[in-house]
Amino acid sequence: MRLLVVEDEVKTGDYLRQGLAEAGFLIALARNGLDGHHLAMTETFDLIILDVMLPDVDGWRIAQSLREAGRQTPMLFLTARNSVDDRVKGLELGADDYLVKPFAFAELLARIRTLLRRSATPTLSEQLHVANLTLDLPKHRVTRAGRKINLSHKEFSLLELLARRRGEVLPRSLIASQVWDMNFDSDTNVIDVAIRRLRAKIDDDFEPKLIHTVRGMGYKLDVESDDETP
Ligand code: CA
Repeated sequence: MRLLVVEDEVKTGDYLRQGLAEAGFLIALARNGLDGHHLAMTETFDLIILDVMLPDVDGWRIAQSLREAGRQTPMLFLTARNSVDDRVKGLELGADDYLVKPFAFAELLARIRTLLRRSATPTLSEQLHVANLTLDLPKHRVTRAGRKINLSHKEFSLLELLARRRGEVLPRSLIASQVWDMNFDSDTNVIDVAIRRLRAKIDDDFEPKLIHTVRGMGYKLDVESDDETP
């Protein structure tokens, strides 16, 4: 488990690095907000511990950038601030927990472990398999028979929906509302076009065919062959 600690107070930073390393974590320590921001945005961590009061880029900004970039890394704010407003702000910016200085190291450790446990379940198990097709949800990666397939965001969402509900016939109206956030009536052609593109990428060069058209009803993804494709 690799943790990023962003803390400008030298003593606290050293203390955290040493304590967390002794607890068995790999630690990257950033001693200012700019380095912390850079590391948080460019490298992958299992959890980020953020001091709020930093002289350059503060903890709020780092948290905000991360969430805006769609990163779900758990974050714990560690700060001397203790007003209700600050706590609310931290949580609104996507912090998962909040610990006020001075804190007991044992409590920090307990909270870190809770956050890691909570985040581990969805991220580690988020792979969907249908025949030789694999969707890696956190990484947004699709492979078929070991070959990497590049999909657009919409195509990925569409495939994810079909794969999660494998074997179910999904009406166009449902696909429209879940993937495009729009009403069925507006433009159903969009879905047929997207399905065609998706099929060309994940089915054309592979066997067995996975995307099936169920006439008058919708689409489904499954291994079986008794369908009416195309
Ligand atoms: Ca500080």
